[in-house]
Amino acid sequence: MIDAPSRPVTIVTGGSRGIGAAISLELAREGHDVVLNFASDEAAAVELAGRIEALGGRCLPVRADVTDEEQVEELFARAATLGPVTGLVNNAGATSFIGDLADTPVAVIRRVIELNLVGTVLCCRLAARTMSRSRGGRGGAIVNITSLAAATGSPHTYVHYAAAKAGVETLTRGLAVELGPEGVRVNAVSPGIVRTTIHADAGDAGRVDRAVPGIPLRRAGLPEDIAPTVAHALSERASYMSGAVITVSGGL
Ligand code: NAP
Repeated sequence: MIDAPSRPVTIVTGGSRGIGAAISLELAREGHDVVLNFASDEAAAVELAGRIEALGGRCLPVRADVTDEEQVEELFARAATLGPVTGLVNNAGATSFIGDLADTPVAVIRRVIELNLVGTVLCCRLAARTMSRSRGGRGGAIVNITSLAAATGSPHTYVHYAAAKAGVETLTRGLAVELGPEGVRVNAVSPGIVRTTIHADAGDAGRVDRAVPGIPLRRAGLPEDIAPTVAHALSERASYMSGAVITVSGGL
């Protein structure tokens, strides 16, 4: 379906750490050249870029805040220097705060919705403009990283984050219909609880260990548990899959 050169160029937002880093490494192993977006931690991005290039692919680290329209345009422009962009993984996200909605500062709510929902919308918009065949693109595939929170609503934890991720799932379904005739597939991967620093960054480092007894497979996910499903959704093996939300949650 994708009219791509031998090594497709794929952008991974928030690719420098956590789940995004595992996705970037997995894509490099599967033959992608990776555009590694990050927001602030340049050292982590450059270190990972070296590991990706050691696997034989090209890797371009690009600092860009995905909530900023101009920086998203610059991200796609820099990515195009590697070749036609045919892949996008919208992974950048954060929870930032854990608690009841009534206790959550409004500034945090706005930032979380901007990053998890608006950032994904802005990157999808640029991908639609870049990849659509009727606009001169070569087709492609988009994978949006959502969360099991979208299904549960995450009461007493972060209902606004859950609502943002539910928005990402609705975006995925609608855009899959809009872009199917353009040769672009759009899917979402929904992780359960995964061991990354996202939980400590939101002020609750013990959250993952407390969750383990409630997970049917009796362990938390690792970033490496999520990455192969993302790589599959981007690959030609998934060429008839679009509009899907795939849960990877240890049975939750
Ligand atoms: P993480 O380890 O905290 O990494 C977040 C990544 O996002 C970093 O690379 C960070 O870059 C980047 N980022 C943050 N703000 C950004 C911005 N404004 N623009 C561009 N990049 C930005 O997070 P994670 O746990 O791997 O989560 C990855 C995704 O999975 C998120 O969408 C999250 O909601 C989702 N998810 C996670 C879990 C979980 O339990 N961990 C569960 C379900 C869903 P810098 O390092 O440069 O700041």
